[in-house]
Amino acid sequence: MSRDIRECDLMVIGAGLAGSAAALFAAKRGLSVVQAGGTGAIAYTSGYFDVLGAVPPRGPEGGIHLVEKPFQGLAELLASYPRHPYRLTSPGLIKAALAEWVDFLANRGLPYVAEAETNVVAPSPAGTLKHTYALPETMWPFVRLLKEKPACLLVDFYGLNGFSARQVAANLLPLWPGLRVERIHFPAHAGGEVFPENAARSLELPKHRETLAEAVRPLLGDAACLGLPALLGMNGCGAVRADLEERLGVTVFEIPTMPPSVPGIRLREAVENGLPELGVELYSQQMVRLERMESSGLEFTIHGQSMERRVRCRGVILASGRFLGGGLASTQTEVRETIFDLPVAQPEDRSGWHRLDYFDPRGHPVHQSGIEVDERFRPLGAGGKPVCPTLFAAGSILAHQDWMRMKCGAGVALATALGAVESLIAELGTVSGDLATVPAG
Ligand SMILES: Cc1cc2nc3c(=O)[nH]c(=O)nc-3n(C[C@H](O)[C@H](O)[C@H](O)COP(=O)(O)OP(=O)(O)OC[C@H]3O[C@@H](n4cnc5c(N)ncnc54)[C@H](O)[C@@H]3O)c2cc1C
Repeated sequence: MSRDIRECDLMVIGAGLAGSAAALFAAKRGLSVVQAGGTGAIAYTSGYFDVLGAVPPRGPEGGIHLVEKPFQGLAELLASYPRHPYRLTSPGLIKAALAEWVDFLANRGLPYVAEAETNVVAPSPAGTLKHTYALPETMWPFVRLLKEKPACLLVDFYGLNGFSARQVAANLLPLWPGLRVERIHFPAHAGGEVFPENAARSLELPKHRETLAEAVRPLLGDAACLGLPALLGMNGCGAVRADLEERLGVTVFEIPTMPPSVPGIRLREAVENGLPELGVELYSQQMVRLERMESSGLEFTIHGQSMERRVRCRGVILASGRFLGGGLASTQTEVRETIFDLPVAQPEDRSGWHRLDYFDPRGHPVHQSGIEVDERFRPLGAGGKPVCPTLFAAGSILAHQDWMRMKCGAGVALATALGAVESLIAELGTVSGDLATVPAG
């Protein structure tokens, strides 16, 4: 283990959407940033950025209300769920966070598209439709084509699990009667399973794209467009799609596959390559352990299979996610926060975690578990006061939101990350160093 202690302004715990956005926002504002974390949910997502897609009912009566205008819909959400983390944000903050994040991605070759302040409908990997806000450019043609409904061919590949063109078409056909499906062999694939990540990288080679185009061309018939599973390249996905369009003379678009998804891996790679270029010291796939927490600073050990690194920082943003990310863990009886042992807002006992009906439109109460924060994103201790003046939290670890039901995952992650960074910057300007020492948990 290195005996040096790395000093920095900000330690970001988590390398998911919230942690990565926090590291980006802080680095761009001049803070020295160390960040550590594993894959989190980012590699599992469809690649869509939801802001607010639905407001679930509060009571047993009534259904989910689908939201068309996500920023206008915030008032309705907060009327039903006044403790949702969006209460700490504003439409302006959410838009600013999205714009800064999307700009970063565009500069990394991952452009996103949204309609002005309006949700669009986009397909899930199964072909069901969901309300979402921003889509990778490679998927965006679907939005227009669903309205125009031209003759369209959907293609999948022998050996590709987690995507079935036939299933997608079965769900979409009532709305889009001009869909046809075909299954072909993946270019230069010897047989067996087709792994999406490998397939995506292989399509960056022009000769594989030509093989794919040769296989698809005779199947196109009268189709004006072609839907393919989202594996059209990794870093150069825009160019891969454009090249296929040129070879085939039709509009080509991607449809998400089941996780782990290539659009999620593209996001992860954009972050892993892009943040260090902005000066972020990123420890990817490494975890963090708290050593000391005092008002004058906090100390952590970053640890992985072959390294340990001690870090002393002035402030922290905790973006460790929920159960999938590892920020929350459950025993038989309760949900715990895993790094600081912070109190977790959760149902009173185990019997309240889930409702009887799996598909209950209200969702399951355990999915709104998380940590409480004050109006400046500082986690609260048992006494209802911030546990440390320079400890902040962002993302899905925050209580009172159910991103699955509300379709608010990316919006909450990005907006609370920006809110936490702005609060941290304000606090670092005022910390006096004579506040009480807080014992490590
Ligand atoms: C299958 C799936 C599909 C989704 N689809 C969408 C979608 O279409 N649109 C959308 O907007 N949202 C979607 N989401 C939700 C969205 O991905 C999440 O809401 C969002 O990514 C949460 O980000 P986060 O950074 O808060 O948490 P996470 O992504 O879970 O990241 C948590 C991070 O904390 C790290 N961590 C935990 N403990 C430690 C520790 N001790 N030390 C260091 N690091 C630690 C983890 O390794 C990880 O890096 C989806 C999520 C899933 C799982």
